[in-house]
Amino acid sequence: MDFEKARKEMVEYQIKSRGIKSPAVLKAMEKIPRHLFVPDEYQTYAYEDHPLSIGYGQTISQPYMVAIMTELLDLKPTDKVLEIGTGSGYQTSILAEIAEKVITIERISELADSAKKRLEALGYKNVIVISGDGTLGYEKEAPYDAILVTAGSPDVPNNLKNQLKDGGRLVIPVGSPSLQVLLKITKKGQEFLTEKHTSCIFVPLVGEKGWKFYEDS
Ligand code: SAM
Repeated sequence: MDFEKARKEMVEYQIKSRGIKSPAVLKAMEKIPRHLFVPDEYQTYAYEDHPLSIGYGQTISQPYMVAIMTELLDLKPTDKVLEIGTGSGYQTSILAEIAEKVITIERISELADSAKKRLEALGYKNVIVISGDGTLGYEKEAPYDAILVTAGSPDVPNNLKNQLKDGGRLVIPVGSPSLQVLLKITKKGQEFLTEKHTSCIFVPLVGEKGWKFYEDS
């Protein structure tokens, strides 16, 4: 299969055609070999317009969802970013292409380990992968220019809002376990401005400040 051609077509027909304009996002998505982030048996589906299973009941998100969330973060090359929900590490690599430093947290240690190895093999030196509960944020590296949550949350965890710099942006899907809306929250002084964007369906954010009743599943 010609993965480079599939990747160009993904960017043209799934991303640009739906209104994503950020040159940095388009460039990163055209560059990164998404097929290396999915299980071998799914490589030929890696550039299709839907999420794919990555094991442990989790998914690599639909390419368009990765694009819109990244565009909403308004990243600058000097930004420090916190990502909650590393999964395969694909979204992490997109962030690492655009920002200066990325801290990413994954609650399933096996996924954190495989994403870390994958990102190292691809040469990313500006990424720290942490295994743990991202609903608490990561105080040690705070404050952040941007925080991205890639799992569906019942509400906006205060820990995450409090770890934003002034002018910082938090993008997070919020709603029920079966349907969420993508929120962008911007810190302006002591205020938090909230914009609603597209509806979406993510796997649940499980943790102390997320969905607690899924913890044994
Ligand atoms: N962005 C990922 C990618 O590109 O592959 C896909 C993320 S997947 C939709 C959501 C991930 O969030 C899952 O891997 C899940 O285990 C993780 N997750 C759920 N709750 C979490 C939490 N409290 N802290 C960290 N990771 C969490």
